[in-house]
Amino acid sequence: MRHFPLEPDRAAMTELGGLVLDRIVDRTAQLAERPATPLPDRDAEAALVNAFLAAPPDRPGDLKTLLARLDEAADHALETAGPGHLAYIPGGGLFASALAEFYTRAVNRYGGVTSVAPALAALEESVVRWMARDVCGLPEGSGGLLTSGGSMATFTATVAARHRGLGEDLTGGTVYTSASAHHSVAKAARLAGIRAAHIRTVAHTPDLRMDPEAARAAIRADRAAGLRPFLLVANAGTTDTGTVDPLPELAAVAREEGVWFHVDAAYGGFFRLTARGHERLTGLPEADSITLDPHKTLFLPFGTGALVVRDVAALHAAHGATGSYLQDVDSIGGIPDSGHLGPELSREIRGVRAWLPLHLHGVDAFRAALDEKLDLAARVYQALRGVAGLEVPLRPDLSVVAFRCRPTGDGPDAVARADASSRRLLARINAHRRFVLSSTVIDGRYTLRVCVVSHRTHEDLIDEAIDIITEEVQKIT
Ligand SMILES: *Cc1c(COP(=O)(O)O)cnc(C)c1O
Repeated sequence: MRHFPLEPDRAAMTELGGLVLDRIVDRTAQLAERPATPLPDRDAEAALVNAFLAAPPDRPGDLKTLLARLDEAADHALETAGPGHLAYIPGGGLFASALAEFYTRAVNRYGGVTSVAPALAALEESVVRWMARDVCGLPEGSGGLLTSGGSMATFTATVAARHRGLGEDLTGGTVYTSASAHHSVAKAARLAGIRAAHIRTVAHTPDLRMDPEAARAAIRADRAAGLRPFLLVANAGTTDTGTVDPLPELAAVAREEGVWFHVDAAYGGFFRLTARGHERLTGLPEADSITLDPHKTLFLPFGTGALVVRDVAALHAAHGATGSYLQDVDSIGGIPDSGHLGPELSREIRGVRAWLPLHLHGVDAFRAALDEKLDLAARVYQALRGVAGLEVPLRPDLSVVAFRCRPTGDGPDAVARADASSRRLLARINAHRRFVLSSTVIDGRYTLRVCVVSHRTHEDLIDEAIDIITEEVQKIT
């Protein structure tokens, strides 16, 4: 065959699609048994990486062979879709969302401007409004935008806040965040033209929550010194420990000081669907804007974030733009063009990947899964607190449990020795390859963390994880 036609015929489409579907169903059905991490083999990895750097051939390939190569590449990776992914912030990736994406990509409707595909734009808007109003509790009239991830959501909000607070002159613009904020917050400020020296780290209380009085004092001191405070960013679930800042108090500070109040709820926001999460995220509805990451706690595949805002006009004011090539475009049914609410224009109808799972499974299925994650994290917390040799510094607000080796004896290097033990403990735990944990630094101490978020993680895996952790602590202490 000289060419594989770019437009396969019906029989070929069915055959190709069937091959891919079979692969995916097999892989997904095997997830519980698959190792959580690849075998460490640097030489094999280098060979594989090199092979994949090759440019495409002129001649056609064979789908079965190509799929086998894809499997090899996917196997040489953290098993981020599996139940044992307890590192960083997992997401899992819903099968229904993958199907939705296949559909979306095949019909290939345009998602940048509402009037090109109005009903699909309405579908996407329904997802955004649900996130803004039902999930986050923002008022009628709130809305937002689906983005590629949390970083892009925070950047989009930072530009809107800057536009409202500073106008075109960015001189002295100052942003307030905390030491436990995700690095995307400071990055967004820098990308938005704010000097690194004007990104303030507000002090936190010993329980790692941003201190509202310290935020107020910092804003006032800067204003007195001639700077222009315009944005306060709080956490609704930090990446390190899942800690929720005192949102009502911080909202009050922002209101009184006249700065935009953004809440980074990339990890934590969807827990508001549960009764416990609703309680722990009090004050979230007072935000001007909120970052969510459906690819984390709504279990969607990577590549979907969301920004929800109280005042959609503020997004439009900062991001609206037009060109003569768009002169035929009308607004329809009060549904804003996504291309005017953020930096992107051409894109897929991003909402289908959330809409299909939400409508197929129903919201209660998500609520129950998130409730289960809170239960599992509480179970880990209870169990690890009872393990001699470990310290568990914080009761989890949501579904992250941080722990580390307890220093033994005193003397100046007791803490350094405990940190070294924690480091070894992580390596020994992960060497089982049944699940994978990651580490961070909390109050200067090397700390391991269990983050329970995947919809595929259930009690059996968590009990196995508790057993392995306990066993390894006993071996090294
Ligand atoms: C993951 C995360 C982000 C960044 O989101 P991306 O989707 O990775 O860009 C921001 N903030 C918090 C709290 C996060 O957990």
